[in-house]
Amino acid sequence: MTSKSFHPPVRTLMGPGPSDVNPRILEAMSRPTIGHLDPAFVGLMDEMKGLLRYAFQTDHELTMPVSAPGSAGMETCFVNLVEPGDKVVVCQNGVFGGRMKENVERCGATAVMVEDEWGKAVDTNKVDEALRANPDAKVLAFVHAETSTGALSDAKTLAEIAHRHDCLVIADCVTSLGGSPIMTSEWGLDAVYSGTQKCLSCTPGLSPVTFSERAVEAIKQRSSTVQSWFMDLNLVLGYWGGGAKRAYHHTAPVNALYGLHEALVVLEEEGIENAWQRHTDNHMALRAGIEAMGLSFVVDEADRLPQLNAVSIPEGVDDAAVRGRLLNEYNLEIGAGLGPMAGKIWRIGLMGYASNRTNVLLCLGALDAVLSGMGAPIKSGVAVEAAMQAYA
Ligand SMILES: *Cc1c(COP(=O)(O)O)cnc(C)c1O
Repeated sequence: MTSKSFHPPVRTLMGPGPSDVNPRILEAMSRPTIGHLDPAFVGLMDEMKGLLRYAFQTDHELTMPVSAPGSAGMETCFVNLVEPGDKVVVCQNGVFGGRMKENVERCGATAVMVEDEWGKAVDTNKVDEALRANPDAKVLAFVHAETSTGALSDAKTLAEIAHRHDCLVIADCVTSLGGSPIMTSEWGLDAVYSGTQKCLSCTPGLSPVTFSERAVEAIKQRSSTVQSWFMDLNLVLGYWGGGAKRAYHHTAPVNALYGLHEALVVLEEEGIENAWQRHTDNHMALRAGIEAMGLSFVVDEADRLPQLNAVSIPEGVDDAAVRGRLLNEYNLEIGAGLGPMAGKIWRIGLMGYASNRTNVLLCLGALDAVLSGMGAPIKSGVAVEAAMQAYA
């Protein structure tokens, strides 16, 4: 055998996730593994549920992390709330709305699609029309922060419309949690899922979820059993539910949960409003530099997501070559475009721990150097200065 331990390169992660992990979180994850039914661990679980309620801004009893990535949180929401024969209005303005449709159809239900152009926010008027035309719809599902395009939708208004039509609301808040305001209870979001590797700056692999009383009631009223054994909340709650008695459901990813707990402690220490403001401030500085260079944003100003900056690639510039040089010469990862936006945009993430001044200036300086080195049509030497002015 000649295999050796794996030592990853040290990168700066400014793509669509995972984002830079706070070293405090990595350190927490290296602490000794204990049994997942150990009383000390059960205490940590209870504390984590409280911290998650703070992050989601809710008092929902059913708030916990699913032991799998964001996609599993998505699936948990759909398989528990959607039954065969149901109708679900699904908003699609990027990649993740398409995955919601797949989930609905695999539940044996019908998805009524409300489609918006990629890069635009969900059009609330179209959603209202769709719900008027489909009075039998049971659920409205939408993506709050579309990571594929950098567009933020109006979750508050969408939830209001849904409740007016007596629908439950499923919201994808994978990229918004910890980066943009999510007022789960105030807005009436019934089922929300997120991920650990975006604005919480934890390692990938866990999906915080929260369900309202109305959603729990709908799950109890189901006429069919949930087709997924692993994600059936009736069973998961035997482990994650309150009370001193915890039943074995699956072995919780103990050390990963130490990491999430630490990430939530970090968020609480900073204060969630301060975290939202930090994401906005760093976005504004990056934006000043990007625009000074002569590059432009894909999303209209009002709908821009501060933690995911979609920037148009100038005509004639080789997308992959630029990202390759940023990675190889600067250890800097930025994201490529997906679907119809492949080759047309870069996705610059400023998520969680990675949303800081050092990263903004590094990214602008490195982009400037790489692009001007390739003879791209940009204004060189002004981006970092513009960002510094935005901070001042
Ligand atoms: C990243 C992401 C997901 C999927 O999360 P995974 O952890 O990759 O499974 C879902 N929705 C949105 C909006 C995302 O950004």
